[in-house]
Amino acid sequence: MAGDRVNVLVTGGAGYVGAHACKALAEAGFQPVVYDDFSRGHRDFVRWGPAIEGDVRNAEALETAIRTHSAQAILHFAAKAEVAESLQAPALYFDVNIGGAVAIVQAAAATDVRSLIFSSTCAVYGAPGVSPIPESAPRQPINPYGFSKLAAERLFQDAESAHGLRTIALRYFNAAGAEPEATIGERHSPETHLIPLAIRAAMPGDFTLQIFGEDYPTPDGTPLRDYVHVADLAAAHVLALRRLLGGGGSAAFNLGVGRGYSVKEIVAAAASVAGRPARARSAPRRAGDPPELVADASAVKAALGWRPAHADILDIVGDAYRWAMREAAA
Ligand code: UDP
Repeated sequence: MAGDRVNVLVTGGAGYVGAHACKALAEAGFQPVVYDDFSRGHRDFVRWGPAIEGDVRNAEALETAIRTHSAQAILHFAAKAEVAESLQAPALYFDVNIGGAVAIVQAAAATDVRSLIFSSTCAVYGAPGVSPIPESAPRQPINPYGFSKLAAERLFQDAESAHGLRTIALRYFNAAGAEPEATIGERHSPETHLIPLAIRAAMPGDFTLQIFGEDYPTPDGTPLRDYVHVADLAAAHVLALRRLLGGGGSAAFNLGVGRGYSVKEIVAAAASVAGRPARARSAPRRAGDPPELVADASAVKAALGWRPAHADILDIVGDAYRWAMREAAA
């Protein structure tokens, strides 16, 4: 690959967070090499380097990709990532998310890769009953998605003793927004996430948002989540990668802003950025949803100097809105 850039294999690099990470890597002087099966990823999100089509469970294909591109590190995003779907299809989540982690370890062990940044989640904590949540909170996932990510974290810990593979697990709270230029953003089909759906409910049309439960033990009865801008998540990956390539040790860090917004507050924010009311109606609780997930992100701030640059919820929802407008016009 070109010049003296460090090549980084990015599994799931054609997906929402992965593509933003590729952009941040390229801007920081790294060369991302996307590895994606394009089942949920998008070819038009691959803008910052080559792409290889492959299954994340295929250790041999991963190894070939690493060798072909002389990758020195892996950013591992490729995974199934919907709580509700994981309750419907737990075996699929164990297969892809744990099987993918197994293949990553096998491929790293067979090559010179000793640095891994893992896309983990606050779902590893389950419903911890503490807020904000520090990394030391008990990991007791309440859905197969969270369990599969926790199992992968555990495997990566064991792979350090066995193979010298160092891993930084980044436990995202709720990834949201889009890069401010609105050239990449959230495009899921079907869309299940609150912010894009609240925006859809505030755009012309007849889509009405369902508010899943108004009887939670929170100030307005709807669940609180910590929405973190996807560009800030991407920036954290670059900081974590630099730490590992500089010889730093394994760690797990929360990534969140440290403030919770309720579903109803997000609906209001969507209406505010759109300048129109958002259509919403009450619906039963969705299985697997904890009442409150807010990050204590002091560890990543102290260790990596990470600071969310887009902490204002109106910035986050505003960037998501610009992206939604662009997608609607495409
Ligand atoms: N939510 C909702 N209606 C929707 C989608 C989501 O009320 O159509 C709620 C959901 O119950 C949760 C919050 O919005 O409390 C965030 O859900 P999302 O799926 O965006 O992210 P999650 O926290 O599940 O990762």
